[in-house]
Amino acid sequence: MLFDSFNRRIKDLRVSVTDRCNFRCFYCDPDPAPCGSIDPKLLTFEEIHSLCEVFVSLGIEKIRLTGGEPMVRKDLDLLVGQLAGLKRLGLQELAMITNGSNFANKAAQFRSCGLDRVTFSLDSLKPDIFRSITGSDKLSHVLESIEAARSAGYPNIRVNAVIVRGRNDDEIVDLAQFARRNNLAVRFIEFMPLDSRRTWDRKNMVTATEIRETINSAFPIILKNASRRGETAWTYRFADGSGGEIGLIAPVTNAFCGECSRIRLTADGQIKTCLFSTKEYDLRSLLRKGGSRTEVANLIRFAVARKIAGHTIGSPTFEYSSRSMSSIGG
Ligand code: SAM
Ligand code: SF4
Repeated sequence: MLFDSFNRRIKDLRVSVTDRCNFRCFYCDPDPAPCGSIDPKLLTFEEIHSLCEVFVSLGIEKIRLTGGEPMVRKDLDLLVGQLAGLKRLGLQELAMITNGSNFANKAAQFRSCGLDRVTFSLDSLKPDIFRSITGSDKLSHVLESIEAARSAGYPNIRVNAVIVRGRNDDEIVDLAQFARRNNLAVRFIEFMPLDSRRTWDRKNMVTATEIRETINSAFPIILKNASRRGETAWTYRFADGSGGEIGLIAPVTNAFCGECSRIRLTADGQIKTCLFSTKEYDLRSLLRKGGSRTEVANLIRFAVARKIAGHTIGSPTFEYSSRSMSSIGG
């Protein structure tokens, strides 16, 4: 099993399959989606699979596919099928996070390939605001994808919303209502300084406390989890017994670093042990040089042992990560 030097057990791996995206969310702002051949810097599906096999043998229980936008990677269902095979080695959950623009007609196929869970990102229910945030007019596609995921039988569907002052903070209650109406979990995330344009400012960040108070004054909510136990979110149910759930993720004002169980593999094969670390460990070079499974496992252990205690957003010593969210894998 993987333990870091703070005795945190690492069991959750985020795998970025691409750093590109078909959206341009202003708080992330990746490079455009590729057309044509695959960038040779990216790990192939075979490379991702063989690295994940080693991660699982070291006790990783959950893998979440991310990006960039994972659905822009061609034939992603093949990778899902390969990774689902790791369940016989101890993987407990294979999940994906997507912007939902291209998921609707793939929902059932991915489910039958072994995808257990899906999370969508949706910051606005108003087409004009959605467009101003994402640079895309595909709101209706995202809503269709959420419906398709439900029809395909995915359990515990989640919707993530990043709330930014002056952009979508007037939609907090509408998004909570969306959770109630559709009986799903909406998780509100504080805006983090991981945007490639470096526009983050505490003044435009809406805190989780403010979000909770806004929701609570419209629909009273009751805390469900007294401890986050390795989860990133505080979760709430509605006091009136309505369906749906609210999650609050407060990486800036109430960091969960002390309970962090995550590690990340970037699309170009680097281990990142924290979203905000500036240090990376090069698994791709090791693999392409013909490194053995033992050498790969040793590099993973070496990286985990050096996982930093936590981020320092807000402190005078804070340094922007060496990469933006889309390039690390959110
Ligand atoms: N493209 C996919 C999507 O948007 O769901 C997956 C990758 S995206 C980087 C993963 C998550 O990171 C999304 O829910 C997105 O809202 C969140 N995210 C991106 N930049 C962020 C930032 N600066 N602060 C907080 N969350 C951010
Ligand atoms: Fe693309 Fe996701 Fe970043 Fe938005 S948050 S630009 S959908 S990678």
